[in-house]
Formats: sequence, structure tokens, C-alpha cells
Amino acid sequence: MPAPTDTTPYDVDAVRADFPILSREVYGRPLVYLDNAATTQKPRCVVEAMVNEYYSVNANVHRGVHFLSQQATELHEQARERVRAFIGARSAAEIVFTRGTTESLNLVATSLGETLLHEGDEVILTVMEHHSDIVPWQMLRERKGIVIKVVPMDDSGALRLDAYERLFTPRTRLVCAAHVSNVLGTVNPVRHMADVAHAHGALFLADGAQSVPHFRVDVGELGCDFLTFSGHKVYGPTGIGVLYGREDLLDRMPPYQGGGEMIAHVTFEKTTYEGLPYKFEAGTPDYVASHALAVALDYVDRLGMDRIAAHERRLTRYAMERLGAIKGMKLYGTTDNKDAVVAFNVGDIHPLDLGTLLDRLGIAIRTGHHCAQPLMQRCGVEGMARASFALYNTRAEVDALAEGIERVRKMF
Ligand code: PMP
Repeated sequence: MPAPTDTTPYDVDAVRADFPILSREVYGRPLVYLDNAATTQKPRCVVEAMVNEYYSVNANVHRGVHFLSQQATELHEQARERVRAFIGARSAAEIVFTRGTTESLNLVATSLGETLLHEGDEVILTVMEHHSDIVPWQMLRERKGIVIKVVPMDDSGALRLDAYERLFTPRTRLVCAAHVSNVLGTVNPVRHMADVAHAHGALFLADGAQSVPHFRVDVGELGCDFLTFSGHKVYGPTGIGVLYGREDLLDRMPPYQGGGEMIAHVTFEKTTYEGLPYKFEAGTPDYVASHALAVALDYVDRLGMDRIAAHERRLTRYAMERLGAIKGMKLYGTTDNKDAVVAFNVGDIHPLDLGTLLDRLGIAIRTGHHCAQPLMQRCGVEGMARASFALYNTRAEVDALAEGIERVRKMF
């Protein structure tokens, strides 16, 4: 991905006014919210869309002949179309609503695992995967005896592409890689990785949990067969996520869960399934959340993804400079193509102490293993502190973080 170059003025103060929570205080200090890789705050339009739908539309989707049910269904299906356009999928049938990235990954591991993967087949992951892209594959390994291989990285946090290519064998069926690491911020070269996978006859899944919120992601340009992401990390509500899958693949995959909504016809002898994408959406979907996610995507598009990306890249570069100048600072993830996440340790200060003391200054960061324990092992640490940025963060907040870290450092 080329670095975004959009330099049109970006009025971050106006943007912040759209997010009521950002004007609150914690411990009597202005909130500095730098935990956006965990979840983002919601603009007023997203919360209002949910309130309005519950107040004036609410009815279960797909099954009702009555007015409200049809209106709710329309909003839900328009949301699917909105997601399709946002990630450049060819058909709305390729957009499966899930609870989030974790469920999307479990769906693929379970359903694809059922059909495509057999004992001895190989799945390639990367050393920087989130646990949600490791554990489902290990569970499948328990069930079916698949083999998991891991792409290593260098000390800057870049994947070793030479080693990647050497991992392929005639048994390689699938590669799953984070598009952006939730710890290092590394933007992985997924187009290249997908091309290599395809050249070896393997499929490619990109975990877009940390890319879709930050820059334009187009599944056609990426060349991926699957893409996963979570609504709550892209200014939408919790409880809604997306699995994009190539239609011909989803078509061949069996249902993930059984129940209402996903069937065509049921008898005690035999059940036939609905077509795509409903085959994968058993039970009442979170139709209020899907609509609110579409509103969030509209909001992002109104601001302009390229302008958001440019703003966040500037902020990330500034944070790397400011934090890099602090005595005893160790920054993790120093590649050029780095996005919106800065992970670090300072001297011998335990990241939990650092996070707790910064919190008393009103600064919210995350500390610990960030659901990436194998990556922590690779870096030789038990945990890290992590600041992560969103479209509403400012240079002044980066300054507050740097000054806060200095204050804490002097206490030790
Ligand atoms: N993958 C990555 C790269 C992530 O950053 C996260 C969330 N931290 C997940 C997967 C899991 O997302 P969720 O908890 O929303 O399912």
C-alpha cells in the first residue's frame, strides 16, 4: 500500500465534536483516548441510528410480512450492500454478518476446515497473528490433524518474505495473515503474499481488523479470498462484524451454525439450506448493529478514507519521533509501512505500572500481551504498552502521552 498523500486540511477539532465521549474527563483530567486498536469511540450519528431504529423501526428481520419487519429488513440488507461497496466485493452474497473478526475467523476455520482441509494439510500463519487467528486453527489441528506453519519476522517487525515462500509445500492449502499487526502496526504486503499463495494453489485470508478502520481496503486489489473485520473498530457498534468470502468458495463451504434464517426447508428427515449469505447467518442477526455499522462507514467515507489515513500516518510518525526521544524507550515495530499503532517499553518499568500511572493522568493506553503471546515471545518480553490512534486523535494528545511517560519514568 502506498503511503497516503492526501494533504487536504483535516479539521480534527470539528471531527472530535462528533464524538461526545471525547469531551469527558477521567480523574478530573481531559480524556486522552489512545486505545483505538482495542475499540474506537462512536460518533453521534452511529449512536443515534441505533436509538432511532429501536424507537421507531424495531422488528425482527426477514420473517415478517408487516411494515416494520420489512423496513428493518431493508435497513439490514442496505447495510450489507454498504459493506460490499466499502470493501469492493463483487456481490452482497459475499458479505456475511458475524459478531466480529473472531467469529469470522472461527467460521472459516470450522467450515472450510470441514471440507477443504484434511489430515496433513498445511495452514500458514504469521508470527504476529492475534490469538483469534491462531487458536481456531489449533482447535482444527486437534480435530483433523492439520499442520500449522508460521512466517517469521525480522527485528523491525517486517515479515520475512523469503522464509514465507520456503514454507509452501504441495500440502499448503491456506495462508492467514493480519493485514496490519495490532501490536507492531506493520502493514503486511498482503497483495504479494496472496499472489504467492495463489501461485502455490493455496487460498489467502487477510485479517482486516486493523486495516479496514485506517485506510482504503479493496478485496479485489488485495487479491484475497477472505477478509475479516469488526464493526466496533471502525466506529460502529460492538457485536457486528464481517466475513467477506469469494462467492464460489462460500458456496462450497457448509453452514457454520444451524437454526432459523439459514434454512430453505426442514423436515425431521432432511434439511436444505438457504443460499448465500444466509446459509452462514443462523438465528436473529444484530440488525440494529448492521445498520449502525453502515452509518459508521458512511461517516468515514464523508471524512474521506485517504484524508483519515494521511492524518493517522502523520500522527504515528510524530508519535514515533516523540516517544523515540524518551530515555530508555524501546519501540516495537519500526518498519516504514506502519499504521496507527505504537508499542513500547520504557527501561525496566513494567507495562502494567506504566499503563496504570498514565491512566491517573487521564491517558488510556493498553498494556499486556495484546492477544498476541507468540509475538511477545518473539520479542522476548511478557508484555508491552501500546498507544493506538484513530481519526480523532491529535498531536497534543501525543504530546500528553510523551509528557506522561516522562513523568512516570522519573518516578522509577
Ligand atoms: N485480529 C486483529 C488483528 C485484532 O486486532 C483483533 C482485535 N484486537 C481481532 C482480530 C479480534 O477482533 P474482535 O475481538 O473484534 O473479534
